[in-house]
Order: sequence, then structure tokens, then C-alpha cells
Amino acid sequence: MDRIFDCHVHTFPDTVAAKAIPLLAERSGGLVPAYDGTLAGLTATMREAGIAGALNCPIATKSTQVESVNTWAAAHNRWPVLSLGSMHPAYPDMERELSRIRDLGLPGIKLHPEYQEFTLDDPRMTPVWRVCRDLGLVVLIHAGADIAFSPPYHTDPERIRAWIEAWPGLTVIAAHFGSWKMWDRVATELIGRPIYLDLSFLFGLCSDTAIKDMIRRHGVERVLFGTDAPWRDPEKEVTRLPALGLTPDELEAICWKNAARLLGFG
Ligand SMILES: [Zn+2]
Repeated sequence: MDRIFDCHVHTFPDTVAAKAIPLLAERSGGLVPAYDGTLAGLTATMREAGIAGALNCPIATKSTQVESVNTWAAAHNRWPVLSLGSMHPAYPDMERELSRIRDLGLPGIKLHPEYQEFTLDDPRMTPVWRVCRDLGLVVLIHAGADIAFSPPYHTDPERIRAWIEAWPGLTVIAAHFGSWKMWDRVATELIGRPIYLDLSFLFGLCSDTAIKDMIRRHGVERVLFGTDAPWRDPEKEVTRLPALGLTPDELEAICWKNAARLLGFG
């Protein structure tokens, strides 16, 4: 494989990383981070894994963090680590901040319904879906279960399906292949629908044959390679790719071309 782009990584300002990474590791029940959460740590890890570029997915866990998260993201949104912005259901002037995100050159936003406590049909989120659709901002959303939370979860394949049906024209990337640990229902509700699915935190939890089959049935043009680093080790994730048994063209679409088209690089 020539070029690999990782569409799902996490990085923080250095001072935040030192506090956030141990806290998040503990909350996840002891996941061992592949790097220290800093941009320097991430880029060194990418080099070792042979990953040419990556997309940072920040989460504003409080509405008061939205602007600083977006300002930091914009200041560091340059190759090889591009960045999404973030939004929060309790943020007061969503339309203005989403316009600023667009003007800063960020390709979209990352949202996490568990950390941010909202459902997809929450009326507070209506302006987010409308403005992101109108401005062409991509929405990358954590989907399904989460290791750091207990059920009931805020999203599942049925609710994601209803959401994308309610918002045609909104570009959605559902992380963790549509809904983490709900892949039997992803197969019936989301496969083949107009939604991007990323491969982050999936390998080893689903069989390689099942992953390959779902990728092909969904359409390789709507699947993105992603790792969720540092919570998965990019080097190990990359070595899993050949085992899927996809063709070189299919892998190139998943690992590079789709992200390049969506995010406007390469
Ligand atoms: Zn993640």
C-alpha cells in the first residue's frame, strides 16, 4: 500500500495531554495509549506506522471549551495532521461558530453523543445539522457503544439511520464502522446507505471476513481507514489491512482516495 491516511486520531495541546491521557486511559478500563497524546507523539507514531497523514478529532466536553478547541484545531490544521473542529449541544451561538469553523478552513466537526450527552433527534442539535449541511462541513460522530460508558447509549444503527434519512445532503462519518459493538444491526440498518463508515477500533472485534464482506456490501467508496489512536496502536492497525483480503484498488480507496476527496487533500 502506497499511501495511508488515518481519519480518526486524537491529539491535545501538550499541557492538556499530560492530564487528559492518564485520565482517559483509566476511564477506558486500562487501555494503553500508543503515544502521549501530543502532536509530536502522534507524528512520531505515524512515521513508524507508515501513515502519511491523519485527521484529529477533538471533542469539546463543555460548551465553554468550544471556541478554544476550534482555535487550537485551526492553528494546528496542517499536513500531516489535519483537524476537525468541535461543537457542543449547549453552545449558545452555533451558527456563528460553525461559520467561523468554515472560515478557519477546518473541514468539519467531531461530536461524541456520550461525552456530550445528546441524542441525534435532540432539537438543540437541529441548527448544527442544518448549518453543517449548508456550509458543507463534515460531521464525524462517535457511534454506538463506548468503552468508557455504560448502556443505554445515545446512538445505535436505527437512530443513525433515522438521522441520515432526516438530513439528506449532510455528510456524515459514523465512527467505529457505524456503531461500536452493534455491527449485526449496522449490517441491516446502515450498510449501503449514504453514510461514511470508519474502521477505527474494529479489527479483532469482528472477523476479517465479516469486515471485508460488510465493506464490499456498503461500497468501498464510503469506507475510511481510521485507528482511534492513541487508543489503538496505528502500527498494529496498519498491519491488519492486508489480512482483510481486499484488492489494491479497494485498499487505496479506503486508505487514501476517499479521505482525500472528502477532506480536499492530495
Ligand atoms: Zn475516537
